[in-house]
Amino acid sequence: MFKTIDNEILKRIGEIVGESNLLSREERLEDYARDENASLYALPEAAARPGTIGEIAALVKLANRYRFPVLARGGGTGVTGGAVPVHGGLVIDLGRMNRILEIDEDSMMAVVEAGVITENLQKAVEEKGLFYPPDPASLDSCFLGGNLAEDAGGPRAVKYGVTRDYITGVEAVLPQGEIIGYGGKLVKNATGYNLLHLLIGSEGTLGIAGRITVRLLAKPKIRVDLLIPFPDYDRAVESVAAILRRRLTPTAIEFMDRKCLEISRQVLDNPVPFEDAAAHLLIEVDGDDPDRVEKEYEAIGEICLEGGAADIRVADSPRYQDQIWETRRKLRDSIKTVSPAKLSQDVVVPRMKIAELLGGIGNIEAKYGLEIIAYGHAGDGNVHVNFLKRNREEAPWRKALDKAVPELFSLAVELGGTISGEHGIGVTKQKYLPLALNPDAIAAMRTIKKALDPAGILNPGKIFPVDK
Ligand SMILES: Cc1cc2nc3c(=O)[nH]c(=O)nc-3n(C[C@H](O)[C@H](O)[C@H](O)COP(=O)(O)OP(=O)(O)OC[C@H]3O[C@@H](n4cnc5c(N)ncnc54)[C@H](O)[C@@H]3O)c2cc1C
Repeated sequence: MFKTIDNEILKRIGEIVGESNLLSREERLEDYARDENASLYALPEAAARPGTIGEIAALVKLANRYRFPVLARGGGTGVTGGAVPVHGGLVIDLGRMNRILEIDEDSMMAVVEAGVITENLQKAVEEKGLFYPPDPASLDSCFLGGNLAEDAGGPRAVKYGVTRDYITGVEAVLPQGEIIGYGGKLVKNATGYNLLHLLIGSEGTLGIAGRITVRLLAKPKIRVDLLIPFPDYDRAVESVAAILRRRLTPTAIEFMDRKCLEISRQVLDNPVPFEDAAAHLLIEVDGDDPDRVEKEYEAIGEICLEGGAADIRVADSPRYQDQIWETRRKLRDSIKTVSPAKLSQDVVVPRMKIAELLGGIGNIEAKYGLEIIAYGHAGDGNVHVNFLKRNREEAPWRKALDKAVPELFSLAVELGGTISGEHGIGVTKQKYLPLALNPDAIAAMRTIKKALDPAGILNPGKIFPVDK
């Protein structure tokens, strides 16, 4: 159905990006065969490193002319296979397009190329007293373009929202090679269909972002973190609900249970504080007024102590803050160290349903004899559920997962949630899409895809299987 990239096509790709930015030898393509989802591997036929949006457009036009698959790759930190070239074709590596083009301090906006690493933007704006809140835990290696495509979130979503809430403009290449612009340094925009919001979260299937405008906030002057140990996880989760019911708005509320703490203790060099706790809440509060910030974290502390917390550790210096966030930030890698084979899913439920979700996950774990580590963004209802293989035999483990995973997703949906809060559908979740969306909703999405990409060449096999 798709054409293979032959020597003639390679020559044309080379003419567009320059020979030095064309990769076609197998050993150099290995880097593009995976993302952070360990179970998927597919080599592309070629990779190109464009330097401009015009070059991206020319590559996509070429793909349409010859009908070969083409897909964008950012930092490759996605976890659902979005950047894995499952149908081969050409990978467009955005890594060279890594310039921060403008930080407009007056209008509190920044314009960046899509290959800018998220943390680099954060640091650059913070030097000017500004703040870009979205903070995926992968921020030292993911790109703004990948964040746009996945609508990335992070711990600060509780107070500040996700990537979608900060992108105000995009220049992108549509699947047939047209360059479009939508939005800009605008706080409001009601002009026709909002193509920007169509692209955000589209997992690279409806367009390739080349240039992105984001809005910035003033950097909060004060940030305080609380590490709060609990003797059991129920009380930790109930305290989260109590904090939210009191209309308090911490920046982040992260949850880790005893199993997370045990694994972190085994893997990390630094000792994990309160190592006997059954669960930790990690709560961040920020603001400009010292009295208000203090009142807020004291109120949170009281709620947690009333709820059964064993202690509270307050961190208000960057060094100490980094130390107490280390366990949480490195959790994904720590889990991978003890069980390189694992399946990780993210589900999201209404915030008040977290306790029911965690209880249900415990039942699934017991029912199928699995080992599940669940942790995550308790403050926004988004839980990362990791099924660890350790030294279990492959076949029975997979068989149990085949039952446990749809049960997990059905549970999330029954609780009013859905099957992904931030990692997208990619390849790994597409068979479960009908659990979350009704047939008409899926058909509407497919109609949009077909209208923009009639040849089906832009990132095929993602979100939905390729039409036969
Ligand atoms: C340790 C770790 C922690 C993580 N923590 C979080 C977290 O807290 N929150 C969260 O939301 N995610 C998290 N993730 C997942 C991942 O980092 C995010 O999904 C991130 O947004 C992916 O960005 P990327 O640049 O790596 O994209 P890639 O993996 O390269 O690509 C992801 C998708 O985006 C598309 N894409 C890439 N660039 C573009 C572009 N310019 N235009 C259009 N489409 C494009 C690709 O085709 C692909 O479909 C984590 C991952 C890891 C490994």
